[in-house]
Amino acid sequence: MSTERFDVVVIGGGIHGAGVAQAAAAGGYSVLILEQTALAAGTSSRSSKLIHGGLRYLEGGHFNLVRECLHERALLLKLAPDLVQLRPFYLPVYRDTRRRPWKIRLGLSLYALLAGGDKISRFHTVPRQHWDRLDGLNGEGLAAVFCYPDAQTDDAALTRAVMHSAQSLGAALRMPARLQQVERHGQGAIVHYQIEQRSHQCECLAVVNAAGPWVNDVLNRVAPAPPRIDIDLVQGTHIVVPGALTQGIYYVEAPRDHRAVFAMPWRGNTLVGTTETMYQGDPAQVTPLPGEIAYLRETLAHYFPRYRGGSDAVLDAFAGLRVLPALTGTPFGRSRETILLPDQADKPRILTIYGGKLTAYRATAAEVIKRLRTSHPAREPIATTESLPLKAV
Ligand SMILES: Cc1cc2nc3c(=O)[nH]c(=O)nc-3n(C[C@H](O)[C@H](O)[C@H](O)COP(=O)(O)OP(=O)(O)OC[C@H]3O[C@@H](n4cnc5c(N)ncnc54)[C@H](O)[C@@H]3O)c2cc1C
Repeated sequence: MSTERFDVVVIGGGIHGAGVAQAAAAGGYSVLILEQTALAAGTSSRSSKLIHGGLRYLEGGHFNLVRECLHERALLLKLAPDLVQLRPFYLPVYRDTRRRPWKIRLGLSLYALLAGGDKISRFHTVPRQHWDRLDGLNGEGLAAVFCYPDAQTDDAALTRAVMHSAQSLGAALRMPARLQQVERHGQGAIVHYQIEQRSHQCECLAVVNAAGPWVNDVLNRVAPAPPRIDIDLVQGTHIVVPGALTQGIYYVEAPRDHRAVFAMPWRGNTLVGTTETMYQGDPAQVTPLPGEIAYLRETLAHYFPRYRGGSDAVLDAFAGLRVLPALTGTPFGRSRETILLPDQADKPRILTIYGGKLTAYRATAAEVIKRLRTSHPAREPIATTESLPLKAV
C-alpha cells in the first residue's frame, strides 16, 4: 500500500487550522487537515464572536496585537461582508466606573489611530438626550456614553468559510479523524491517525499543531518529544437570554470585579460574556459553571433593569477555553500574544500555535507558512489570502 504524501499536515479544524490550510493551499503546498470532531467544535464556536482590535489590550500596552487585529478587521470587512459586520459599540461611563471618561477618550483615540484613522474608525459621545434610545440602559449615575465602531461575526460560520476556501484551493480535510502519533525524522514526519477505529498514516514535510486547548495533548503524541510551553486553560462562559438589544453592542464593567463584559444582539436574543475561570481537565468536557452564569446575569441586570428579578430563562450557555502561558497572577493581566513554537529553528518539522485571536487568524496563518518555507521546497503560489473572498457555506 502506498503512503500518501503532503507538504503540510494540520491538526485541528478550528479557525487556526482552517486559516493555515487556506494559507498553505494558497501558497501552492499540498495540505491535509485532521479534525477529530467537527469544524469549529472547540473554541472557535465559543468565542465572543467579535472581530476587533481588543480595546482593553491597549491598557496592557499590546499595541502591535491591537494594530494587527484592526488591520485584519478591515480586511475581513472587505473579504467577508456576509460574515463580518461593523456594529456600534456603546461604552457607558458611570460615576463609579473604574476607567474615567478622559482615559476612555484617550483609549478610543489611540484605537482609531491604530485602525488607520479612517472615517469608519471614528468614535463619538452619545448626546444625553439620546440615552433613552439605548435599549433601556440604566441611567442612574450615568456620566457619559461613548460609541465606537467594531465588528461582529459568527465564529463557526467564519471557520467553515475559511475551510471551504482552503478546500477550493485543493486542501484535503479528513473528519472525524483523530491524530494518534507523529514520528519526527530528518526529512519530515510520519503522521498516524484514526478514522472510525481504522488506522491511517501519511508522510509530510511539516506538521502544524493547531489543536487549541488540546495543543499539549498533541505534543504528547510526538516522538521524539519537541519543546513545549506550559499552559493554563482559562474558561470563558457566555449566556444567551431572551430579548434582543437593538442598538448595538454594550461594553460594560462587571459590578463585582470591574472586568469587561459584552452584551450583544445574537440571533434575535442577547449574548452576554465572558468570564475568566481557571480550568483543569479534558478540554472536551468544559461547561459553564452556575457561579459564572449568576455573575453574567447579575452584570446584565445591573445595566439593563429589565433583566432584574431573575425570572428570565437562560436560553443557552457555552464555555470556551483560552490558552495562556502558565504564569502566576490573574489571567486578565497576561499577554494575549500568539506564540508560534517550532521544534527547531531551522527547518521546523512541527510548528505549534499557542493562543491567538479569531480576528487575527489570517495573519497568524501567514506567519506560520512563512516560518515553514525553510523546510519546504519552493512552490508556486496560486492565490493570496489577502484578497480571497470568504462566503458563508
Ligand atoms: C471565551 C473566549 C472568547 C473569545 N472571544 C474572542 C473574540 O471575540 N474575538 C477574537 O478575535 N478572539 C476571541 N477568542 C479567541 C479565539 O476564539 C481563539 O483564539 C480561537 O477560536 C482558537 O482557535 P483554534 O483553531 O486555535 O482552536 P480550536 O477552535 O479549539 O480548534 C482546535 C481543534 O483541534 C481539534 N483537535 C484537538 N486534538 C485533536 C486531535 N488529536 N486530532 C484531530 N483534531 C484535534 C479540536 O477538535 C478542535 O476542533 C476568544 C476565546 C475564548 C476562549
